[in-house]
Amino acid sequence: MTIPLTREDCAARDAADPLAPFRDEFVLPDGVIYLDGNSLGALPRATPARVARLVEHEWGQRLIASWNEAGWWDKPRTLGALLAPLLGAEADEVVVGDGTSVNLFKTVAAALWLRPDRRVVVAEAGNFPTDGYIAQGVVDLVDGASLRMVDVDDPAALAAALEPGDVAVVLLSHVDYRTGILRDMAAVTEMVHAHGALVVWDVCHSVGAVPLALAQTGVDFAVGCTYKYLNAGPGAPAFTYVARRHHERVRQPISGWHGHARPFDFAPEYEPAAGASRFLSGSQSLIAAAALEASLELWQRVDLAQVREKSLALTDLFVAVTAEAGLECVTPAEHERRGSQVALRHPDGYPIVQALIARGVVGDFRSPDILRFGFAPLYLRYVDVYDAARALVEVVTSGEWQDPRFAQRAQVT
Ligand SMILES: *Cc1c(COP(=O)(O)O)cnc(C)c1O
Repeated sequence: MTIPLTREDCAARDAADPLAPFRDEFVLPDGVIYLDGNSLGALPRATPARVARLVEHEWGQRLIASWNEAGWWDKPRTLGALLAPLLGAEADEVVVGDGTSVNLFKTVAAALWLRPDRRVVVAEAGNFPTDGYIAQGVVDLVDGASLRMVDVDDPAALAAALEPGDVAVVLLSHVDYRTGILRDMAAVTEMVHAHGALVVWDVCHSVGAVPLALAQTGVDFAVGCTYKYLNAGPGAPAFTYVARRHHERVRQPISGWHGHARPFDFAPEYEPAAGASRFLSGSQSLIAAAALEASLELWQRVDLAQVREKSLALTDLFVAVTAEAGLECVTPAEHERRGSQVALRHPDGYPIVQALIARGVVGDFRSPDILRFGFAPLYLRYVDVYDAARALVEVVTSGEWQDPRFAQRAQVT
């Protein structure tokens, strides 16, 4: 499809957009074009009432009865079942709970235990920092284990890291949080398996933006968060995918009572539950789970192929219109290598992003020089993206970002 390059063309695309009705299902502040849904997704309109019902009725009136009556005990599994279609997984392969960082710890350790004759964890240099920090934490705990960092966008470097035959597990992100590069999940998974290793994919920046086929692709483990494209709210629970072929043998180190086969036996010995449930540990916030449930109910009605198509069209549009600003585009032009974001590079990226925010266009800045814009196709219109792109061109070409007030750094960038 051709890229709409006038505001009228964009309005016409919005009128024909099959996803357009979803916009009304979100709370969007007036005067804001939100290009940060890859950091914290917008609030679904259904969420406040769903959370209020949990607090006022399930908790307030029904108290402990809700563990059975409202399905509280099974929430990590029932929410996992709602997530499964978005991941290309079966219901018993996904559980919801804890955060991405904790789930990275559990899955990397689990993979090391599944390959006892191998002690190397390969992790991605340049990944979101928590992934590398957690991998380091795991190898520090396991006798003889070590970490090998590699540039996963260089196939020769990844092959060389796998060559010695000592790698137990490779941990990498499907979409790079900074550059927006989308990795070839099938090809990398196949290469890792050909070398006898297992793979943990971090899908934080692809779930809800790129259709996933974890089971079909042969992925061993995947983790991701639900507060980015899935719109489940700040600090919402994360998820863990465990391929069914590993269910019998796999174990994980945070072996708490929620992952026990018969938790209400209160037995002295740990015995893991069947399926991905053994990746559960302890009690979770049911209030946060209610917000996730409201957003996942919305996602059941979404066609991910339409999301992907619109995401590529919106990113094409943004790249084309902002070209006039003359910033280097770091995100690949090829669709098959692009997630749902655009990263532009400029040494003064921080004040430029602040000047844009002052105009109501919210993106973010990632050190050292990346201006990052995320595109959530459920609530962004083509005209929004056009207006945001024009605003960026004006901010850069007018020099308005040079105002000293835009240089002051806040705690969260
Ligand atoms: C957002 C993100 C995380 C977040 O980890 P939390 O434990 O939820 O803070 C981890 N990894 C990647 C790649 C991310 O993009």
